[in-house]
Amino acid sequence: MRNVVIIGSGCAGLTAAIYAARANLKPLVIRGLEAGGQLTLTTLVENFPGFPKGVQGPELIERMQNQAAEFGAEFVEGQVTRADLSPRPFVIEVGSETIETRTLIIASGASAKMLGLESERKLLGHGVSTCATCDGYFFRGKEVVVVGGGDTAAEEALFLTRYATQVSIIHRRDQLRASKIMQDRLFRNEKIKFVWNAVVADVLDVKRGEVTGVKLKNTKTGDETIKSCDGVFMGIGHTPNTSLFRGQLEMNEVGYLITHEGSKTNVPGVFAAGDVQDHIYRQAITAAGSGCMAAIDAERFLERE
Ligand code: NDP
Repeated sequence: MRNVVIIGSGCAGLTAAIYAARANLKPLVIRGLEAGGQLTLTTLVENFPGFPKGVQGPELIERMQNQAAEFGAEFVEGQVTRADLSPRPFVIEVGSETIETRTLIIASGASAKMLGLESERKLLGHGVSTCATCDGYFFRGKEVVVVGGGDTAAEEALFLTRYATQVSIIHRRDQLRASKIMQDRLFRNEKIKFVWNAVVADVLDVKRGEVTGVKLKNTKTGDETIKSCDGVFMGIGHTPNTSLFRGQLEMNEVGYLITHEGSKTNVPGVFAAGDVQDHIYRQAITAAGSGCMAAIDAERFLERE
């Protein structure tokens, strides 16, 4: 029987693990499918406090994991295949292994949606990014494209105009989905251009190991063209990794867990931290902060019990 099980090993999960471990709760971290979370998909992180020269995303995660292990956190590879939150203790299955726990911290994150192209995957962190706040700075004086037509794409595009000389929004229709206010901002911004009715069919150039352009396909005519650019930002949305908890935990219409009074979910003893419950800030530091909150909430819950 575990005191604390943490689902997810990104910033939120690992910070929860550091705090829970230092409270002598011997947390077990289930590392998950995308172990290390979204920071492992990026390169230099320059906005995490304490690293004036920046730190590589994977290195930051490794340091957090080592720090948690130092205090006694344990780790298991694999993905949660079933979670039953109706009985107490809660029952978590990881493949054939069944784990019982008094408290559960869900830090399973939200995965940025990708187009599913091999070139996009290979160039991720080398010109392809899913986070303008994280990587925009590297595109100073360069041309970038943003894929998508919703608020995420709009926000990414507007942020990128601080650095890039031109930001082209590639959208598969001829109307944006983004809110009116965001649309107005986009249309007013001289650096922002639009490519309507187009999808990215390929990201170039895998051989060179850097982004030199995108191959676009017109959704109406099927015509293909090449647009040169230095960076590609995916702004087609995020999917919170909460499908296991559907019907068990309160979530909003797109699946983000709803927390109240800190990190509490609607099930006593189950806490949520990081992007799985935050579609607004989505930063490494906010995820880490909420992981800390979840560990403290779990510790206090156990004390009361
Ligand atoms: P949305 O689902 O609203 O938009 C996704 C966009 O990406 C759509 O324009 C969609 O096209 C396009 N898209 C999806 N899949 C593909 C694909 N495979 N190829 C090409 N294009 C694709 O997601 P968001 O993340 O933008 O927003 C999610 C929610 O979060 C919304 O409610 C939004 O308002 C909110 N949000 C609010 C923000 C704010 O207020 N500042 C910031 C970010 C998000 P199509 O339109 O054709 O479906």
